[in-house]
Amino acid sequence: MRVAIIGAGIVGLAIAHALLDRGHEVVLIEPGGKQGRPTDGNAGWIAHTDVMPLASPKAWRNLPRWLMDPLGPLTIRPGYLPHLTPWLVRFLLASSPSRIKASIRAIRSINAEALPAWKSLLSSLDLSGHLRENGILSVWRHRGAFLRSQDIIERQRSFGIEAEALSPAAIAELEPALRNVEAAVLYPDACHVSDPATLAADLLRLALERGAIPVAAHASRIEPHDRAVRVHTDGSSPALVADQVVISAGIWSRALAAQLGDRIPLDTERGYNATYPKGTFGISRPIMFEGEGFVTTPLDTGDRVGGAVEFAGLEAPPNHSRTDAMVQRLTRFLPHLQSKPAAERWMGFRPSIPDSLPVIGPAGRDRRVIYAFGHGHYGLTQAAITSRLVTDLVEQKPVGMNMKPFVAQRF
Ligand SMILES: Cc1cc2nc3c(=O)[nH]c(=O)nc-3n(C[C@H](O)[C@H](O)[C@H](O)COP(=O)(O)OP(=O)(O)OC[C@H]3O[C@@H](n4cnc5c(N)ncnc54)[C@H](O)[C@@H]3O)c2cc1C
Repeated sequence: MRVAIIGAGIVGLAIAHALLDRGHEVVLIEPGGKQGRPTDGNAGWIAHTDVMPLASPKAWRNLPRWLMDPLGPLTIRPGYLPHLTPWLVRFLLASSPSRIKASIRAIRSINAEALPAWKSLLSSLDLSGHLRENGILSVWRHRGAFLRSQDIIERQRSFGIEAEALSPAAIAELEPALRNVEAAVLYPDACHVSDPATLAADLLRLALERGAIPVAAHASRIEPHDRAVRVHTDGSSPALVADQVVISAGIWSRALAAQLGDRIPLDTERGYNATYPKGTFGISRPIMFEGEGFVTTPLDTGDRVGGAVEFAGLEAPPNHSRTDAMVQRLTRFLPHLQSKPAAERWMGFRPSIPDSLPVIGPAGRDRRVIYAFGHGHYGLTQAAITSRLVTDLVEQKPVGMNMKPFVAQRF
């Protein structure tokens, strides 16, 4: 089949390779140059050990404190509130105990397959060198907060996820640069990538080498016809014709899905980061600073601190006071950072759905158009497994996973 993929972020690129593996012709429609595309600036975690949706008890516990602080881990810009209301209503609905349980089950079902799918994709392309497998550490400033998180840790263990609580001496031995940490849990099976932008660049280069056809344009209209699906692009070229179309354009997918009659509650949780020269933090593995809303990663290209959630849409300029506030909070844990020069700062658009589950499945009006977007905080983690699911959907084969939680028609 000839399959057109709209959007060559990490999700679209993984899908391109999975389709090429099965012998399909792939057309990659990607304008390039989109500012804030999260594929390039994310934290690089393969966070397959995470099981909690954003609408979780942990978020609700911290929410009042976060919202009180205009530069805290979670903010809604007041001017954006009216646009966000439908999303917030869905978020609230996704917060009932039964819906949270359902989200956890679905997140676990897809995350359980995430790392094996990445390993198989990377090794088939001779890119396994991008994977760093030395675990991830969650740390708490106060033991009380750690004790209040036991339910989440127990939930992870109940799924067979290894989570090793560390003594203060063990924390100091593992990460001697860390200060003011009273408790920590090591997830030895979690991992990260060398650098998300480098990984994406390698995947793109190899997809083109394997025969994917690049179309440097912005897809503007999708028209299913009897025998084919047409994709119109900006510029004057005639419409592209394909047997099937995959929409993997991150946050920019919403308008395309709306053309096919699917109104998806997709909004952006804007995230921020700062990247310092490699080795600045003196930390050897990724760290989640629990309750603080940021993480650090020792990437090959630099030490990154990233996180925060800001609801402000696609148009508002970045507010890097948020990045500065995040760095300031990080200095509590890494005091030596005070004396370091300012880092490179970035803001990107997570494509987020209120129940923290991506949309993977056919369009309501025509099953030859397949959605693969809305991965929120887990787009890198879930890209490879998404590519497998999408390829089975393209070929109309049994997928081997309950897809009901992921279909567009769940809204
Ligand atoms: C601060 C931060 C940290 C994060 N950390 C992690 C992490 O550690 N681990 C993790 O798993 N996830 C993480 N994420 C989330 C992850 O980065 C995203 O979920 C993921 O990048 C989404 O990938 P995507 O391919 O769906 O979308 P994108 O990266 O947005 O790519 C979409 C592509 O579609 C193209 N496009 C848009 N419109 C059109 C159009 N009309 N026609 C053609 N092409 C189009 C764009 O140019 C772009 O290349 C983080 C995100 C942020 C912001």
